Amino acid sequence: MWRLSNGEIPLSPSTIVAVELLLTGQVQGRGVRPAIARLAASLRLAGDVRNTLKGLSITLEGVSEAINRFCESLPTALPSGCQIIDIQRQDAEPQDRDQFHIRRDDNTGPLTTPVPVDTGVCPQCLDEVADSHDRRHLYPLTTCAACGPRWTVIREMPYERDYTTLDAFPLCADCRKEYTSPDDRRFHAQTIGCEKCGPRVWAVDAKGQHKGRGAEAIQAAISSLRQGHIIALRGVGGYQLLCDATNDTAVSELRKKKGRPAKPLAILVENALVAQDFAELSAKERKELESPANPIVLCRSRGTGLSDGIHPGLTDVGVMLPSTPLHAMLAQQFGGPIVCTSGNLEGEPIVVDPKDAEQKFGAIAELIVHHDRPIVRSIDDSVVRFIAGCPVTIRLARGLAPLSLPLDANIPVMAFGGHQKVACAWSNGTQAVLGPHIGDLETVSNRERFLAQVEDAQQLYRFQAERFACDQHPEYWTAQQAAEWGDTVRVQHHLAHVAAGMVEHQLLDHTVLGVAWDGTGYGTDGTIWGGEFLRVHPNFEFDRVAHLRPFQLPGGEAAIREPWRVAMFLLIDALGPDESIKTMFPMLPLGYTETVRRLIGEGQQFPKTTSAGRLFDAAAAMTLPIDRIEYDGQPAMLLEAIADRSAGGSYRLAISDSRPIQLDWRPMFQDLWKDRLSGTSPSAIAMRFHRTLARGILDVANRFGSLPVVLCGGVFQNRLLTELIVELAIGTLPLKLPGRIPPNDGGLAAGQLAVAIRRLKVGSWK
Ligand SMILES: [Zn+2]
Ligand SMILES: [Zn+2]
Repeated sequence: MWRLSNGEIPLSPSTIVAVELLLTGQVQGRGVRPAIARLAASLRLAGDVRNTLKGLSITLEGVSEAINRFCESLPTALPSGCQIIDIQRQDAEPQDRDQFHIRRDDNTGPLTTPVPVDTGVCPQCLDEVADSHDRRHLYPLTTCAACGPRWTVIREMPYERDYTTLDAFPLCADCRKEYTSPDDRRFHAQTIGCEKCGPRVWAVDAKGQHKGRGAEAIQAAISSLRQGHIIALRGVGGYQLLCDATNDTAVSELRKKKGRPAKPLAILVENALVAQDFAELSAKERKELESPANPIVLCRSRGTGLSDGIHPGLTDVGVMLPSTPLHAMLAQQFGGPIVCTSGNLEGEPIVVDPKDAEQKFGAIAELIVHHDRPIVRSIDDSVVRFIAGCPVTIRLARGLAPLSLPLDANIPVMAFGGHQKVACAWSNGTQAVLGPHIGDLETVSNRERFLAQVEDAQQLYRFQAERFACDQHPEYWTAQQAAEWGDTVRVQHHLAHVAAGMVEHQLLDHTVLGVAWDGTGYGTDGTIWGGEFLRVHPNFEFDRVAHLRPFQLPGGEAAIREPWRVAMFLLIDALGPDESIKTMFPMLPLGYTETVRRLIGEGQQFPKTTSAGRLFDAAAAMTLPIDRIEYDGQPAMLLEAIADRSAGGSYRLAISDSRPIQLDWRPMFQDLWKDRLSGTSPSAIAMRFHRTLARGILDVANRFGSLPVVLCGGVFQNRLLTELIVELAIGTLPLKLPGRIPPNDGGLAAGQLAVAIRRLKVGSWK
């Protein structure tokens, strides 16, 4: 007989029809199946819903009117976290179904559906944890159908509890009841658990002595933080190091022990309201902070309430809200901002394993807070910065990675990125994604992390890569790996940046003007490029239509660490052998700088470059007292930070009529130097320098008519420069700014993948 699970009387069976729907997009791990089951029940429809390797499959059986109503209501009935790309509908045979089920699917065949990303704790879960009458009161690993770990706990797809590491935690009777009750918000929530049945939290001290479980462990952590100690905490994607962000000694101790002398540290605060004590948040920044992706957002610091050691010399501060109830309880009970940084030594991968943590952090942290929810794949925290009102990914990691790429993905290819800020991108034959940040591949341990991720990606996405894309730099380790592994296409560094921008803006069928400005990229002539204007065609053929006037790097690599060397070269080139240059770097021993000055004067040859990154380094060294770089991009960040937006004026930049066009910076540095000698404030000099380059970029872009102008490369993480370009270009040029694909080398693999796929398609591989 016709019967519905909610016991209501069915309609006449004569009008019964059946349909099958396939939803594609981000449809797993966001509570979509429970929402669909509820909608079906409310319309008295029978059938089932399944997570499959293709997406989400729904079978509906009932009166056609109700089925139509189901389809109409679907968009509003779905949880906010999911993103539907397409809904395919086809008729099916009614089979006298009388109930609606959430079913499982077999997992054979290619993986077409996106793997869900990790999601920061939702407000409802936080309310439950805070509520003394709730059964999850103070349970630090509370999750639900809408929030919790996904990418970090999924062993294989589709998204089902027994394919995650939560499989090791059988549900207690109460959790089981929630899991099976259609009206419960944890109906089919795969990661749920509670104090009785779920993963546990506990703390140990540096000697391995037990310091309490659950709420007790958190108390121990708080008292440790209050005493100015460093603690290590196992988060969603690995360990983090924490200390009191108002305590100068604690912050400097953390910097010393982690080997991170100056690079800014992010702070964890309880909520967006508290964040506003330390940072000025726009509505959009606040929304991003509170979003399920839970990234670190770089916001304008208020300059008060934090240790000076948090973001020395910079006006932005990285802010993050709690990722889990554990973080929330810590932040709330501590009652102040907490430094929260990746649990690693600088240059090493984030630590994920508890034993490793005790070994590595024994000398760093006074207390280690563990949990026993296994982490399948480590992931760092994401970083986002708003530029011209839009979110730009600085580091694509937890909550944002893997990022689906709108590419035709029918051929399996793996792209390896470059050498710094490496991330891989891959297509498995059905979908293309950009994977999470891995890091700089200087250390053996980071190279191991890279290899493990490449292996894991192929296993999870069910493919075997035989074709690889990499950078053209012959000395990059990733390029050497690719060549060993299979058929390889080498993509010029800046072409890959532009291609990533074309993917971002879905401009793959257009000719664009790519402005690729960064620190280092191997050019087709064997020199280091980095101030490039490339006209890129849909087949990814390109012309280098303009670039910065080449200059030299006195001392090679040393010139990157000591930007005054570049500054000296540029000034001598711009001014000739001017005596005033001698006085430029009073903080350095005169003998040291004089040797370099003499070598340049004598015409000694050094590596050539057109790097915009080095140009920024040099301008910073001329303007600020910088003798050594502590981290990549530091001089440019300091220069951007001191610039006074209200200061007028700019410098001359000569733009040649040659082919390729050259942007000659010599007049700019003549003017800058004059400003410097006449005592103009560094903040005005910094502003004029930025404005000059913004104008120069637009001047060149205007010569290429109405081509879309794709800004890419690490230089465009600079908010001031990018926003100046936007202001100056209003209404005149179709500007395409960086977005969800990182403009820095973290996005390189996305561009390499696009180029490789296109070349495979048109048969011009290699
Ligand atoms: Zn939740
Ligand atoms: Zn339970």
